[in-house]
Amino acid sequence: MLGFDVIVLGAGAMGSAAAYQLARQGKQVLLLEQFNIAHNQGSTHGESRIFRFAYTNLAYAKLAFQCKELWLALEKDAQEKLLTILGGIDFAEDEIGKQSVLEARDALQMLGSDFEELNYTQLTKRYPQFYLSPSVLGLYSPDTGVINPIRALEVMVNCAKKFGAVVQDNERVREIRPTRGKIEILTEKNIYQANKLIISAGGWTNKLLKYFNLQLPLQVSQEQTIYFRPLANKELFTEKHFPIWINYRENIVYGIPAFTEPAVKVGFHHNGFYLDINDYQQQVSEEVIARLRDYLKQYIPDLVGEAFGATTCIYTNTPDHDFIVDLLPGYPNVAIAAGFSGHGFKFSIGIGQALADLITEGKTQMNIGHLSIKRFLA
Ligand SMILES: Cc1cc2nc3c(=O)[nH]c(=O)nc-3n(C[C@H](O)[C@H](O)[C@H](O)COP(=O)(O)OP(=O)(O)OC[C@H]3O[C@@H](n4cnc5c(N)ncnc54)[C@H](O)[C@@H]3O)c2cc1C
Repeated sequence: MLGFDVIVLGAGAMGSAAAYQLARQGKQVLLLEQFNIAHNQGSTHGESRIFRFAYTNLAYAKLAFQCKELWLALEKDAQEKLLTILGGIDFAEDEIGKQSVLEARDALQMLGSDFEELNYTQLTKRYPQFYLSPSVLGLYSPDTGVINPIRALEVMVNCAKKFGAVVQDNERVREIRPTRGKIEILTEKNIYQANKLIISAGGWTNKLLKYFNLQLPLQVSQEQTIYFRPLANKELFTEKHFPIWINYRENIVYGIPAFTEPAVKVGFHHNGFYLDINDYQQQVSEEVIARLRDYLKQYIPDLVGEAFGATTCIYTNTPDHDFIVDLLPGYPNVAIAAGFSGHGFKFSIGIGQALADLITEGKTQMNIGHLSIKRFLA
């Protein structure tokens, strides 16, 4: 039987970051993944993820601020640039959406981060690509940026290996035995033992928690994104001229300019297609594409050219859409990271740090007080 200090179960963004941070501290780490590294069947794939401080909840803004330092440290370890700061806008036209924009503004103010509040005239002068109502309220954050999740995940895994971690992909964990202070993990190929375990299994989390007689209120949803090429004014849709944007409304819409050509990736934040992870078929919905096209016709009409590159991806949602990052009650040698509800990637490097701290020290300096598992336990 092979023994380790810590086994990390699941090599998505969170598990890969935890393995990197632990291996960096000199721990003997095993990272286990059921598919190949950087596969497209979970939550961590595609070309871009938004990084931002502009959060309606100050606790996330503070966490993002801590994470930026850690992304820069990873870039240094890897000698590779991962985070590209482009600047981004949040905007809303209705009252509830505007409340979110104001909360994000207040969070940036309390964080001491730069921002500009933009009215209709300022917003449409700076970004004539948008057709907005005069009631719009906008917020510009110069710190918003983008990270390629696949590349970042590969870099975290490679750095973990460089610091001595063992990475086994295409090896599914089929049983966990939490016995007498040690953890035994049975995969399809091996039996491993470790002093500590981190469960970072995304949409599969509850399947593994059954070995601890625990189930969390997690709901997996299928989401999707698609690129649109501009019909006109192509030069206005490159990353030099077009911002990362989030439109707060009943069904939040976001967009990220592509780097390779004038095109923009767009998506609804929550499509609401809930499913059992076993039934996930990666079937693109034409109905969602049609709704996105209708949205763009109204708000960014020059962008409604050819649509391409539609992909699906999963969110693992908690009821309050806040994450769960904690030690497992009754198991001080098991940590869990789950329920990232469609906005976890930017924090992954810091969640990895928090998991490494929790499992080794029982506490962390990362700002994760709002992510306790206790809020979901009776
Ligand atoms: C369309 C879309 C857009 C998004 N945009 C953003 C964004 O702009 N900004 C942002 O911050 N976040 C964004 N997110 C969210 C972010 O991508 C996720 O929060 C993050 O990737 C979650 O990572 P994870 O490690 O928890 O899950 P996953 O990446 O799914 O990793 C879990 C891993 O565990 C493995 N596993 C499970 N069970 C087992 C087992 N039994 N044995 C071995 N391995 C196992 C799985 O195979 C998987 O690789 C977006 C998500 C989607 C879907």
